[in-house]
Amino acid sequence: MTPARVLHFIDGGPAEAASGASFEDRDPATGELLAHVARGDAADVDRAVDAGHRALAGAWGATSVDERAALLERTAALLEARADEAALLESEDSGKPLALARRLDIPRAIANLRFFAQAVRQAGAPCHPMADALNYTVRKPLGVVALITPWNLPLYLLTWKAAPALAMGNAVVAKPSELTPRTASLLAELLTEAGAPSGAFNVVHGFGAEAGEPLCAHAGVRGVSFTGGTATGARVAQVAAPGFKKLSLELGGKNATLVFADADLEAAADGAVRAAFTNQGQICLCGSRVLVEASIHDRFLDAMVARVARLRTGDPRDPASDLGALISHAHRDKVEGYLRLAREEGGTVRVGGGRPALQPPLDGGAFLEPTLVSGLAPGCRTATEEIFGPVATVHPFTDEAEALAMANGVRYGLSASLWTRDLARAHRAAARLDVGMVWVNTWLHRDLRVPFGGVKQSGVGREGGGWSLEFFSEAVNVCVHLGERS
Ligand code: NDP
Repeated sequence: MTPARVLHFIDGGPAEAASGASFEDRDPATGELLAHVARGDAADVDRAVDAGHRALAGAWGATSVDERAALLERTAALLEARADEAALLESEDSGKPLALARRLDIPRAIANLRFFAQAVRQAGAPCHPMADALNYTVRKPLGVVALITPWNLPLYLLTWKAAPALAMGNAVVAKPSELTPRTASLLAELLTEAGAPSGAFNVVHGFGAEAGEPLCAHAGVRGVSFTGGTATGARVAQVAAPGFKKLSLELGGKNATLVFADADLEAAADGAVRAAFTNQGQICLCGSRVLVEASIHDRFLDAMVARVARLRTGDPRDPASDLGALISHAHRDKVEGYLRLAREEGGTVRVGGGRPALQPPLDGGAFLEPTLVSGLAPGCRTATEEIFGPVATVHPFTDEAEALAMANGVRYGLSASLWTRDLARAHRAAARLDVGMVWVNTWLHRDLRVPFGGVKQSGVGREGGGWSLEFFSEAVNVCVHLGERS
């Protein structure tokens, strides 16, 4: 295959990097060169932000809610028509199974566009009457907003931000991860085909430090919505704060799956394995610490091991593959470093731990078997630091209080999944878990209306439904004096 040229998308069309520089986009499963991608820097960011401001001053700024909602719906339909192509781009860029991209990433991207079209149409304006005056509160777009997204769910997370940002009338400058650039360009193309005015949606490709940071720091950007790692989030906050920009940070996680002895253990084992290894364990919500009541620990661990041993790691294009490649060799090195650490910390690898033997062209790919480690102290580094790969640790607990202390004993606080048939315990524990999202007897069961986000070092702010519409707008109150009473 001849590598594609992937350019920025600025002011309604493709644009070369001002510097003329590019970087390579490779398939982590095969090493194949997929594309040469424009390597953005501050000059490209300037052009994109300027284009956003011109759009706001022109055709885009004059659109109505209905027009913007209809634009999102047309874009959803165009994406649906090209869903197979989009899924392939996502799978090749990230190494994830094509079947997963078809089942999860692309349908969810389409759903995001449709959901926020619907949500913005339904949004009202609160009214607070006084005896002699009437207050009504309208929401105005922030202006130009920056959307910075990671590589694990590229189009899924970009549309999760772009749809509400556009619905509320902002102009967007997106900086996707340089590892997964192609579906962001596809989205720009589809929005334009659907009728988005020039400059309403711009994409600057490139690296975090060269393109992402100037975008977050840019004086013309009024809001930054960032999803990525905690250390990067801290840097983004530092850079954005002096400009008093609105900031939403969705960061890392080290989420617990809590399994009580009274749970439906078959369903819990299925759920715990799914939570640990979906997308090669590279989802911020993955349950990478499995906490199991001591009386069932050994039995439950055996049930998980049996399930994990059946998972197939291999060709992302093969429908039989449950896991594909990790995002990069550098990332696999990091994950394997944690496997070495786990052994040093006294852990036993119960299943997995190695690289699968695959035929060319997959033999040099960034593959790693799904791995379960037991026997670790719950406070050790392997059990408390975010690995973001196909590795989960399993730990026993004696009672509810200990389970909660272990679940809460990390610096992250994104989500938790708890498995029990005891209704009172479910509510009690949910209230005491120090996280933004709790699932009971399920995992990653999502309703787009509900708040999404974390506490502690997992982030600041919430996205989802009305929370997203609120983030991407400023509330303006109008108080109308009604005159003297007669
Ligand atoms: P990173 O934090 O490395 O990168 C995220 C994005 O930020 C990328 O586009 C990156 O560009 C960019 N970036 C990097 N440095 C800067 C900077 N100085 N200024 C502005 N932007 C910058 O995360 P990953 O892409 O590695 O994604 C994995 C992480 O994302 C995990 O920690 C995971 O937990 C988290 N995540 C959180 C989610 C949530 O909702 N809470 C959901 C999904 C993932 P580049 O690619 O060039 O480095």
